[in-house]
Amino acid sequence: MLKFLQVLNRLEPATAKLFDVNVNTQIRRLATASAAVKPKEESKGVKESQSFTMNMFRGQLNIHQVFPYPEVLTEDQTDTLKMLVDPVSKFFEEVNDPLKNDSLETVEPNTLEGLWDLGAFSLQVPQDLGGLGLTNTQYARMVEIVGGNDLAVGIVLGAHQSIGFKGILLVGNPEQKAKYLPRVSTGKEFAAFCLTEPSSGSDAGSIKTRAVLSPDGKHYILNGSKIWISNGGFAEIMTVFAQTPVKDEKTGKIVDKVTAFIVERSFGGVSSGPPEKKMGIKASNTAEVYYEDVKVPVENVLGGVGNGFKVAMNILNNGRFGMAAALAGTMRSVTKKAVDHATQRVQFGRRIDSFGTIQRGSWLGWHYFIM
Ligand SMILES: Cc1cc2nc3c(=O)[nH]c(=O)nc-3n(C[C@H](O)[C@H](O)[C@H](O)COP(=O)(O)OP(=O)(O)OC[C@H]3O[C@@H](n4cnc5c(N)ncnc54)[C@H](O)[C@@H]3O)c2cc1C
Repeated sequence: MLKFLQVLNRLEPATAKLFDVNVNTQIRRLATASAAVKPKEESKGVKESQSFTMNMFRGQLNIHQVFPYPEVLTEDQTDTLKMLVDPVSKFFEEVNDPLKNDSLETVEPNTLEGLWDLGAFSLQVPQDLGGLGLTNTQYARMVEIVGGNDLAVGIVLGAHQSIGFKGILLVGNPEQKAKYLPRVSTGKEFAAFCLTEPSSGSDAGSIKTRAVLSPDGKHYILNGSKIWISNGGFAEIMTVFAQTPVKDEKTGKIVDKVTAFIVERSFGGVSSGPPEKKMGIKASNTAEVYYEDVKVPVENVLGGVGNGFKVAMNILNNGRFGMAAALAGTMRSVTKKAVDHATQRVQFGRRIDSFGTIQRGSWLGWHYFIM
């Protein structure tokens, strides 16, 4: 019910009026009521879960994890967004050719060049480091346009900035930010996020790639391989996760813990496999990446030795909304195409949107969309 009301809240005012309900008031009431429900475990002293879903199963809606909605954009932020929306939409209509990208199984160079020039590869990098400095809401609006036009281009852009160099943006020290963010913003160097391995997908903590400190303490020597890396075939700057020997504070024993590293292809010892053959998003590059005795300077440890798992989850959690925003754009675009077809196609002397199956089908689509 709460979810339904949230969806209603985002409808056009005229549509919301149809339901004759003060949606905001209802949401507030429900939210207050659900916040008052305490899980049984809490009263027995069981630690409260940080998982929104697990808490739901325990009878608690921890609404603070999903509310509030993002801050409303200021006037300045709205103006900035308006200035970007038209040129980016026009670019996708006039320059990018999704069919050609799909048949070539790569994004055409003129599209990539154009996107670099528009600043589309550094939407959230602070302006003083070469980016556009957009907020999450502005970013979401931009990737919605991309997702509505060419999802494969969306993956190239997203792998670069939503996860590829996001770690530098989130936990990089000032030197790392100053060195790398301009390169991935205006330097036209692609980034990638390298976590997945043949035996480690969801279970990211079980990766086998290892990095050990060199005897002179100046480098980590990195060895291992990654699979299914978006932009992996050409990325110059990579956030790579590897096991490193770390002294356990409690036991004093040396144990393996994941550490994140900023790795440049130019360090040597980095190579890539051919692009994977995929059934969709063919123009996005997905490849294996191999690391053989790569010398990574110690100053390229990202977020502290042994903290890599947290860094990875932080990046993925932070970057995830970009995927949802892009796919919202895709859904909007395919819905529009379906409606255009249904309202123009004539069979048996009637527009096909006058047939019950088409009407019920579109209601079903709308139903799935809001659920
Ligand atoms: C097109 C594409 C691009 C990608 N790009 C990147 C990239 O840029 N960088 C990168 O590092 N990786 C990338 N990946 C890898 C992707 O992140 C992994 O696919 C993901 O981590 C899931 O791992 P897996 O596919 O090995 O699935 P598995 O871990 O084998 O899981 C398969 C399924 O098992 C079930 N499952 C697993 N664990 C649990 C659990 N604990 N509880 C309940 N169910 C469970 C779930 O249903 C899950 O979907 C990409 C993958 C694809 C397909």
